[in-house]
This record gives sequence, C-alpha cells and structure tokens, in this order.
Amino acid sequence: MEHTEFRVKAKEMVDYIADYLENIRDRRVYPSVQPGYLHKLLPKEAPQTPEKWDEIFKDVDEHIMPGLVHWQSPHMHAYFPALTSYPSIMGEMLSSALNVLCFTWASSPAGTELETIAMNWLGKLLGLPDCFLNEKNDSPGGGVIQTTASEATLVSLLAARTRALMELSKLNPEVQSAELLGHLICYCSDQAHSSVEKAGLIGLVRMRYIESDEHQSMRGDQLEKAIASDKEKGLVPFWVCATLGTTGSVAFDNLREIGQVCEKHGAWLHVDAAYAGSAFTCPEYRHWLDGVELADSFAFNPSKWLMVNFDCTAMWVKDSTALHRTFNVNPIYLRHENSGKAIDYMVGDKQTYIKKKPLRKINNNIKGIENPTITINGHKNHTVIELETPNPQNGIIDDYQNGDYHNGDNENGDYENGDYNGDDDDGTLHGYNKISQGCGDQIQLEDPNKKEMLHWQIPLSRRFRALKLWFVLRNYGVSGIQKHIREGVRLAQKFEALVLADQRFEIPQPRNLGMVAFRLKGDNALTERLLKRLNARGYMHAVPACFKGIYVIRFTVTSSRTTNQDILDDWNEIKTVAKEILMDVFG
Ligand code: PLP
Repeated sequence: MEHTEFRVKAKEMVDYIADYLENIRDRRVYPSVQPGYLHKLLPKEAPQTPEKWDEIFKDVDEHIMPGLVHWQSPHMHAYFPALTSYPSIMGEMLSSALNVLCFTWASSPAGTELETIAMNWLGKLLGLPDCFLNEKNDSPGGGVIQTTASEATLVSLLAARTRALMELSKLNPEVQSAELLGHLICYCSDQAHSSVEKAGLIGLVRMRYIESDEHQSMRGDQLEKAIASDKEKGLVPFWVCATLGTTGSVAFDNLREIGQVCEKHGAWLHVDAAYAGSAFTCPEYRHWLDGVELADSFAFNPSKWLMVNFDCTAMWVKDSTALHRTFNVNPIYLRHENSGKAIDYMVGDKQTYIKKKPLRKINNNIKGIENPTITINGHKNHTVIELETPNPQNGIIDDYQNGDYHNGDNENGDYENGDYNGDDDDGTLHGYNKISQGCGDQIQLEDPNKKEMLHWQIPLSRRFRALKLWFVLRNYGVSGIQKHIREGVRLAQKFEALVLADQRFEIPQPRNLGMVAFRLKGDNALTERLLKRLNARGYMHAVPACFKGIYVIRFTVTSSRTTNQDILDDWNEIKTVAKEILMDVFG
C-alpha cells in the first residue's frame, strides 16, 4: 500500500470505526458461529501475489465481523469492561504509526518521559500515596505500564521472591538458592484471580489460599493465623496478594489489616485492583484503599473501565530497586548516558533515582584491589559507592569508619552495621558500577564494563502505551472520567433494583460498583440453564461465577454507551428466558 492509497483507505477506516461504534447496539453481541468456521472460509496459505485492499477488507466485513463478540456493546455484560474510546483509539493509531520502542530513555525520550508523567497523573488521580510516584529524581518509587494485571502480579511476586532469597542467603550463606526457594510461601484469598495462582506456578513457590469471610473478603486475622502456622513449620512468608474488586463478586480484601500482618512478618504486599482501580478516581470509593500505604506494589487495568484500550496495566512500586534486582541483565547495546532525570523502563543505571551528592572520595580501602577509585554518594535512603578499577577482581571493603560516612547524610543510620540500605548487599560490586554496599562486606568485582541496569518488566521492548493513556486523561479530564465511572455504577444500581423487585431472583452478595451477581432462587441448575439460553440467543452476553457453591450470573455494566433503556431491555430479555425455564421445569 502506498501513501496515496493509505490516505484514502485509512480515512475510510476511520468512518468504518465510528459507524461500528455508534451503531454497535444493533449488532448481536454474541456470535452464532461454530468453532472452526473461519478455517472453512479462508485459504490455507498466504497469497503469493499482493491482494487489493478492497478485497481484503471485504473479507473483514463478511467473515471476521460475524465471528466477533462485540465487547463495546451495551449488551455485553460478561467479564469486566474492556472499553475503548475515541481519544484512546487516536493514541493507538498514532503509536502504531510511530512504532517507537520505549525501553530506554535513549530509545524514545518522549515515550519514556511521558509514561512517567502519565503514571504520576494517574497515581494522583487515584489518591495513591506519594511514595508510589516518581516526581523527584531520587525517589525509588514509581509507575510503569505493564501489559496485563497478570503480568504485574508476576513481576511483583518475582521481585518479592528475589528480595526474600537475598535476605535468606545472607542468613544462610552456605545454602543454595534452589533449596531456599523450597521454604518460601505466599498467600492470597480463595477469591483471588487465577493469575495469582499462575504467578506462583511460574515463580516455583508455594501458594496458600486464605479463606475469605462471608463478604468474600480476606481478613488480617485469617492471614495471621496461616502465617504463624507456616512459620512454625519452617516456611518463610514472603508475598501476599490482596485483591480490591474480586473477579467473582467485586469483593474487597481488608487492606489495612492485611498490610499490618505483612509489615509484621516482612512480606511484600501486592494489591491487585484490576477492575476496581478505575473507581478510585472517585473519592467516594477510596475507603477501600485504606491501608494502601502499607503495600509494596499496586496494579490496575486502565484497559478495563478507564476507556484506555487494551493493553494498558498501571503498576506502581514503592521501591523499584526490587524490580531491577530481579530482572538485572546488561548487554552493551542497551547502555547509554542518562543524567538521572529520566527513567529507563527496561534498562538504565542507578543514577536514574539516586541523587548525586558526593560526600568524599577515598582510595585504597579495598583490600586486595590495587588503586581503585571510590566515590561515596550520600542519599536519603541509599548510599552509593562508585568504584572504578582497571581490573575485575575480588576484595573486601574494610575502612569505612573513619569519618564522613557517619556525617548524618544517611538518615537511616545504617552505615555502621554493614547494611547501608538493607537491599543491595548481595556481595556483588560490579566494577565501574554504583551500588550500595556496607562496611565489611565481601565485594566481588566483575567485568568493569558491566553496569547494573534497571529493569521494570519482563520483556525488553515496550509499546508507546503512555500516549493513549495521556490522551484519555486529557480529553476526558478528571470530571469526565468520574462522570463515566459514576454512570456505570448508577446503571448497575438500576439493574440491581430491578432484580431485587422480582421475587423469583436473588442477589446473594451485595453489589459493589458496576457488577451485579444474581441468580434464580433454588437449585444452581436453574441459573445455569438461564445463562446458557441467554448466551445462545445472543442478544446479551454474560458469564457465571461461583462462590462458596452458589452459582451466579455476573451482570457487569461495561459499555460507556449503556442507557437506562438498554438495562430495561436486558432485564426484559432475562425475565422472558427465566419464565421459559421455570415453565420447562415446574410447568
Ligand atoms: N485480577 C483480577 C481481579 C481480575 O479480575 C482480572 C481479570 O479480569 C485479572 C487479574 C487478570 O487481568 P489481565 O487480563 O489484565 O491479566
């Protein structure tokens, strides 16, 4: 396709998109196709010669569209919302055209800086504490856009695992990491999303499920009991995942209680607020965030309810060092100069968050190493030793007591005890590197060209997702976003009232936010039949959940286009099908 054709066809595509979204109500939300339908319609191999755009697009209309579930439809009530919006589509269009990869500042300066800015805006919009933001160069906290909530959970678990293994190795230097791994245990509620279990599987750690209370909420006392009994067995609790807005019933774990237990036992607390996170843009829902300052990481999906199209998961961490340690690799092609004013989301050196403030320069205090040049940089929470040496070799830091190290610049007073900040003391000091290191620590100098790098995620390459997020935040503004969230909740309340007014139905768990979990009174089989028939008719689409043996239909208000009439229409559809089923069963 040449640019002349692109100009014409892309404009047609914009019209197609607008027509699709504006008329989406008219489409059957759930397709009537059977598995394998597309294989029968499309050729087995790619074409040998170029095909005309119109021919290609004809197939979209004839073969692809009939096989889609229309997630933007007001009659889509399955899962959680996966909303898009015009500013988000514009962001996606532009970012796919630019196709910049934002792993380092050098690879895309505006891309990485915009991500930091947009994540700070978003963090403030949710009312997150300052420790999660990255507004000051020396802040170890910050936000990063991950692909999915599942990935954010995994990243958090792996970072916590690294932290725990490092601490255990210090206490048991003779024991192999693989053996220590066998002692680690993490926790989540029995209502947590399956992605939490998956993170445990990938991380090769035991997971214990805490029984939630009658409101499907994980409570501190149950967690405490489990941890205490596991500790007695010699296990080491290292990570807890709390859910704000569970998938089954939008229940909320008690963050403050859980946070206090985590603090007591030194476990990392991750908060998975995949769906509900968007609601915290409205102050009236922030009571569920009480205790969030005790968390180590927090993630939610703007790609669910915030109208930023998939994929976009906002993740904040209090101390990004834990991520960097976990994903630390450092090939030469990714190195570049960074003044310390910007984040490299994939790689970078520690200057990115360490305020450069030399205390003094010292020489020759590393036993066994000839003529190293060492610079000590003081920082609020970190001390950084820059060390240059002509050759990689091993040595011992042994002479820190004599002066300026204790001059009060390090507020945590840890200089004396061989643990400047309690985290980077892995005994490895890379030549040419900056690393926190303690008096008396063994150091090992590796390849002088090897710098410690900062990593915030699993993949190297990353899309310019900040653009669509920034567009949405600006184009809707805080007031527009809050209006959207409140309207979704209002419509769910309307549906809830309709269900409660009908004696044949019940809502076993109180509704929270935009999701109503309802059922026909009586055997689960009735509700199962109801849902099956509703989905087969394809006018509306929903999925089930089951908590504590009770089968329910999840009715989520997803679309930003949903009206009162849509809710009434869906309720009428549900009543019609329910009547048929009750007639079938009871006559
Ligand atoms: N956590 C919760 C509570 C969810 O409800 C979901 C999905 O709905 C996820 C995690 C997984 O989200 P993702 O698809 O972004 O991995």
